[in-house]
Amino acid sequence: MSDIRQRFYIEDCPVRGEVVHLEATLQTILAQRDYAQAVQILLGEMLSATALLASTLKIKGRISLQIQASGTFKWAMAECNHLGEVRALADYEEDPRFQAATDSSTVLKSLTNPILFINIEPEFGERYQGIVPLDQTTLAGCLMQYYDLSAQIPTRIVLASTAQRSGGLLIQLLPRISEEEQQRIDEDLWPRLTMLTETLKADELTELAANEILYRLYNEEDVRLPEIEQLKFGCTCSKDRCANALQQIGVEAVRETLEHQNPITMDCQFCNTQYQFTAEEALGLFGEHLS
Ligand SMILES: [Zn+2]
Repeated sequence: MSDIRQRFYIEDCPVRGEVVHLEATLQTILAQRDYAQAVQILLGEMLSATALLASTLKIKGRISLQIQASGTFKWAMAECNHLGEVRALADYEEDPRFQAATDSSTVLKSLTNPILFINIEPEFGERYQGIVPLDQTTLAGCLMQYYDLSAQIPTRIVLASTAQRSGGLLIQLLPRISEEEQQRIDEDLWPRLTMLTETLKADELTELAANEILYRLYNEEDVRLPEIEQLKFGCTCSKDRCANALQQIGVEAVRETLEHQNPITMDCQFCNTQYQFTAEEALGLFGEHLS
């Protein structure tokens, strides 16, 4: 049951949703840094949220959630691509409140001037960035506000995480196409689903299998489950990307770096892979040779 995304439909209704669970993947990501407990929980929720949001995209590419703030907590980001590969990272100064807390709200409430970015990067085509005020005490609350205001798609999202497992559920009322369809849907459908969704408890979301969660919530409805998708840890770093980064900083900075670090060593923060560039390789990027 670990590391999956289960889509669901309600037969004859313009409603779709997803349940996600991350376990081994979450532990792989959290093991790469020594995060405080509240930050682990926040990253778990952000990872589940990106896996939910990625499922709403119809393009090849990736979607990321990025929190930025100006206080001791600097940023956190989580990303999911169309292959179901996720990764996440956070940067902050130690804060005793983060060690003790067992929820992500402790981090969210501590942020100074926080902004939540939703970035969509298609493989081909234009990037999109949505900016969401982080004025709710939960990440799910902020994302629902985004859907209400920007996307205008009625959406309910529930997120929960521990340091071991994270889970998320998203349910959306899709735009109705025809008048006939409009008439067929019972008026009470969305209010009823909203109310049921809100009864889901954090430990049910992280502990129960997706089909059990859906049965518990919507057993009065005709819920359809297509095939489950796998989610996994995946990093998009490569030596080529590092080479691009070196080209960006310019030949002067590269020469300076080589004076005290040869070969130049670059670590991927997401997966701890190390990339090395000898002086010859690094200068070769600029068409220069060792003198
Ligand atoms: Zn990497």
